[in-house]
Amino acid sequence: MTVSPHPFTADVARNLTLNPQSPVHSVPVQPSRGVLSPLGIEQVRIDSGFWASMQTLNSTDMIQHCEEWMERLGWIGNFDAVVDGRIVADRQGREFSDSDVYKLMEAMAWEVGRIGDTALDARFEALVDRIEPVQEPDGYLNTRFGRTGQQPRYSDLEWGHELYCYGHLLQAAVARGRTRGLDDRFVKIARRAADHVCDAFGPDGIQSVCGHAEIEVALVEFGRMTGQARYIDQAKLFVDRRGHGVLKDIEFGRAYYQDDEPIRDSVVLRGHSVRATYLAAGAIDLSIERGDDELLGAVRSQMDNTLARRTYITGGMGAHHEGESFGADFELPSDRAYAETCAGIGSIMTNYRLLLATGDMKYADVIERTMYNVLATSPGEDGRSFFYANTLHQREPGIVPAIGEVSARASASMRAPWFAVSCCPTNVARTVASLGAYLATSTADGVQVLQYATGEIGAELMGGAVALRVVTDYPNDGTVTVTVSQTIDEAWTIGLRVPAWAGESAVLRVRGEERQAGPGLVEVAGPFAVGDVVELVLPLDVRVVRPDVRVDALRGQVAFERGPLVLCVESVDAPSVSKVDELRVAGTPTVGEGGAVSVPMLSIGLPDRAWPFAADTAAVAVGGSTQVPLVPYNRWGNRGPSTMRVWIPTSSDVVAGG
Ligand SMILES: [Zn+2]
Repeated sequence: MTVSPHPFTADVARNLTLNPQSPVHSVPVQPSRGVLSPLGIEQVRIDSGFWASMQTLNSTDMIQHCEEWMERLGWIGNFDAVVDGRIVADRQGREFSDSDVYKLMEAMAWEVGRIGDTALDARFEALVDRIEPVQEPDGYLNTRFGRTGQQPRYSDLEWGHELYCYGHLLQAAVARGRTRGLDDRFVKIARRAADHVCDAFGPDGIQSVCGHAEIEVALVEFGRMTGQARYIDQAKLFVDRRGHGVLKDIEFGRAYYQDDEPIRDSVVLRGHSVRATYLAAGAIDLSIERGDDELLGAVRSQMDNTLARRTYITGGMGAHHEGESFGADFELPSDRAYAETCAGIGSIMTNYRLLLATGDMKYADVIERTMYNVLATSPGEDGRSFFYANTLHQREPGIVPAIGEVSARASASMRAPWFAVSCCPTNVARTVASLGAYLATSTADGVQVLQYATGEIGAELMGGAVALRVVTDYPNDGTVTVTVSQTIDEAWTIGLRVPAWAGESAVLRVRGEERQAGPGLVEVAGPFAVGDVVELVLPLDVRVVRPDVRVDALRGQVAFERGPLVLCVESVDAPSVSKVDELRVAGTPTVGEGGAVSVPMLSIGLPDRAWPFAADTAAVAVGGSTQVPLVPYNRWGNRGPSTMRVWIPTSSDVVAGG
């Protein structure tokens, strides 16, 4: 066994090779080429710890919660209303509500595949029973359009979301097909719908696109699963058509739906952040299947620029409430952060595809950051309330949402059980259910552990089956112990990702040998015997983080991170002040018992002034500094209304001692 001194590097065009094994796995993404191959949820099992708890919460509460709400609000009932002939009078929810039923079904399908829950499987089938009769003979399937008394089919491509809904139908069918096989009834429904889309929007069909990208990424994956090039051809038509002004100009401009310029010509993600990331994910998939390295390079560059200039410290994307969109470069205000949960999930989708294509660990770093600080932030500890927008600065304590009421606003001040536009809860549910697929990958002769959780990883290498047992209390503890539980005679490698945030401080231990490791992918070469152990120790000191000077909204402030977690200060932990805005960082952080983090902070008096601009700041220190706890951002808002800051001012604006 030797330790490779070189972090993994990869060049997109040079290293793209056909996946050597390409077996069908229970994965949301199965590219036919790429540096890394995905492992399915049947191969990566999470046993305990942070993500196991989240998956259990999904299993016990989140999925059921989403189903109950959509039953109660009649979003599922819309399908019955079509069958009963009363849909025109009775339809409930927004024009895209069908999509949330499909996202729920995707979550259910992955969950059934993950744990074999027969009761949940029956609930899935019961939904199929209600959806199947709504599909028309030509494959059209939507509760909102096309019947007498409704708007005609495809009469509102800008806002109608018909193709978007098909996209989620197809992704749910991918989850079902990859866990149950292609003969499944729901897969057949999706196949008829996909054929219909190709008929209606093909070379001789409607020469346009959907106002909300999503069908592209779904068609490519459905094409991969079914082996039908037709669906990938159709995705290419959609990707190529967008950007030429095929949709109407609107108040937000065509950039809102990325119809302002072709994706091949863009330099950075812009417009509606969920639309932008979904489109990027679809374009990457298309580029992989068509060997289009120019397109892959373009999207990769757009994501790189977006990460460098338009992404919050949490991994959140989208600085504007208006249009739920990206702002300009370095426009990242904390108190007006939109950072929609779905945009974080769209970022995970896009970065995961870039990771598989390129092997560049930078993208796994982004996935980790976004998983811990956006995906995990949305659901409350009850699994029955969610953040839609993810502010980084709560100025006023939130208002406790009324039980059983739909929140009219995405930017609710606390987690809400449901929203008028409720895309985020079902998106969280489907992502958490399939999370195992994002944790590890394989190559012909190696396994790469990319995200750390206690569990089992199995992979089929060129030389045969291997398996690893991973034990860790990450992110509470930085030690990750990987034990070989199944091996082959041939040499193979175990790769471990050392996040960029670890700098040069990570330590790798292999059979008594200890050395600095990473950042990047650190590979340990076998051959291995069963019981061989590789141990990685990641540094969990609290890091003080400063913003790029161009982020004006953050000047004079610092943030704190520990491992992959962004920390924040919450007013429930600082009873000496009425709001966290009265706190100034006055020292360095310390880690105490059980990983509790605190920082010395000054309280300042904030005298009211008739006019808030003057020669001095009026910030006056009150008393000495006290230790104020910092908590993981993803857990904020679980202890009642509070004010909260991720970026905390230093004491440089305090003009006089009190
Ligand atoms: Zn959303």
